[in-house]
Amino acid sequence: MDFPMIDRELHEECGVFGVYGVPDASTLVYYGLHALQHRGQEGCGIVSVDDTGRLRRIKGEGLVTEVFKEPALATLGGSMAIGHVRYSTSGGGGIENVQPFMFRHNTGDFALAHNGNIVNSRQLRDHLENRGSLFQSSSDSEVFAHLIKKETKFRDRPRIYAIVDALNMLEGAFAFVVMTANRIYACRDKYGLRPLSIGRLGEGYVVSSETCAFDVLGAEFVRDVEPGEIVTIDAHGLRSTDYSHYKRRQMCAMEYIYFARPDSDIEGCNVHAFRKESGRQLFREAPAQADIVVGVPDSSLSAAMGYAEAGGLPYEMGLIKNKYIARTFIQPSQSMREKGVRMKLSAVRSIVRGKRVVLIDDSIVRGTTSRRIVGMLRDAGATEVHVRIASPPMTDPCFYGVDTSTYDELISARLDIEGVRREIGCDTLAFLSEQALYAAGGRSELCTACFTGRYPTALYTAREEANKDGKF
Ligand code: SF4
Repeated sequence: MDFPMIDRELHEECGVFGVYGVPDASTLVYYGLHALQHRGQEGCGIVSVDDTGRLRRIKGEGLVTEVFKEPALATLGGSMAIGHVRYSTSGGGGIENVQPFMFRHNTGDFALAHNGNIVNSRQLRDHLENRGSLFQSSSDSEVFAHLIKKETKFRDRPRIYAIVDALNMLEGAFAFVVMTANRIYACRDKYGLRPLSIGRLGEGYVVSSETCAFDVLGAEFVRDVEPGEIVTIDAHGLRSTDYSHYKRRQMCAMEYIYFARPDSDIEGCNVHAFRKESGRQLFREAPAQADIVVGVPDSSLSAAMGYAEAGGLPYEMGLIKNKYIARTFIQPSQSMREKGVRMKLSAVRSIVRGKRVVLIDDSIVRGTTSRRIVGMLRDAGATEVHVRIASPPMTDPCFYGVDTSTYDELISARLDIEGVRREIGCDTLAFLSEQALYAAGGRSELCTACFTGRYPTALYTAREEANKDGKF
C-alpha cells in the first residue's frame, strides 16, 4: 500500500565545504555541496577568490542544483572557494541567513561558513552591539566574524591570533571554514561535536563536513581537524594551531545514528559500520521472536542489516521509499512541515503479509512517524510488529544546531517505554542502551545529551531563549 505523508522529524543544520589550490575550485565546491545536500536543503552558497584576490559569491534559497546554474557558476573563477548548505534552525530562514557570509574590511576581506550552533551567541551579540557592531543577519555565525575583527588583543599581528582569540570566546558546537584572499582556516570546537575532515586533491586540499564528498571528487582523505584545532591551508601546505588546551571527543552521536551518509567516515569510523554494529548490539540487548527484519529507509537500513545478521533472521525490503520527493524537505519550520514536508513510504504487502515483523528505526522523536509506519505494516498484513530503536529514548532537546523538538513534543520525555509502545501501537518496543551506542563505535566519548540530558558545554541562556521563542 501507499502511505501518505511521513516526515522524518529530525534535521541537521548545515554542511560546509572548501577547496584550496585547485583550478576551477567553485565547480568542485558545487559537487562537494551536492554530496552534502542531505545536511541542509533550505539554502546554499559558494564564495570564491578570483585571480585578482577578490571575493565573489553566489547564494540562494533552494537546493544546490537550483541555486547554481552553469553560466553564473563559471563567473566564480579562481583556485580557492568555500561553500555551505543550510537547514535553518537558530537564526531562522531567509536569504540573509544563507551562507557563506562575506565581510569587507580594510585589513582584508574574508568569508566564512559554519555548521553548528553557538550557545553563548546572545551574550556575545549584545556585547558586540553595545560596542557598535551592526549585524546583517540573525545567524549566530556572524558573531564569529565580528569577534575576529573587534575583540583581538593583537591588532598588528597575523590574522590567526585574532581567530584564536575569537574561537576562545565561543561556546557550543562548530565547524568553521574561513577564507581570506590567500588561505583557508578550518576550525572545530574543542568538544569535537561537529565533524570536519581534510582531503588531498592533486596539488591542493579540500575540507568537508563529511568524507563522502571526497569520494565524489576523487580526493584522498588526509585527516580530521582535531577538536580545538585550527588548520591553516595556504601556499605552505597545512599548518596546525591549537586554540584550546581543553579537548574532548564528544562527537554528536546523531551524526552516526542518523545524519551522516553511510559512506562517510567520522573520526575513523565508517557510518554504515557503526549503524550495522548498533543493530547487532540491539539484537543482543533486545531479541524479538519474528519472521523478518525490516528497516525504515534510508538511515535505518544498516542497523536492520546488523540486527538480522546477529539474529539469523531474513532482512527484507518491507518498506520502500520514494526517492524523488526530496525537494519537499526544503521547508524548515514545524508549521511548514505539517503542511507539506514528508517522506513518502510504501509497505510491500507481498513481503510483510502474514509475517511477524521486527521494524528497525534509528530513533523516535515525536512518535507520529513510528505510529504511522506501524499502522502501515499492520494494514499491509503483518501479524505482529516489534519495534527496535537503534538509539536510546530521546528525552532532551539539542542546543548544538540540530532541530530536534521541544520537551513537550519529545514522546520519550513524556512517556516511559510502555507508554511509548502503547502510543505507537506496536506489540513490543525496545531501545538501544547508551553503553551499546559507545560500543558500536568503539568509542569512550560521544555527545549523547539528547538521550541523557548531560550537555557537554555550558548552555548559558540557550534554554531560556528557546523558551522565549516558543520552542520549549
Ligand atoms: S544533543 Fe544529540 S543531536 Fe545534539 S549534538 Fe548532542 S547527540 Fe547530537
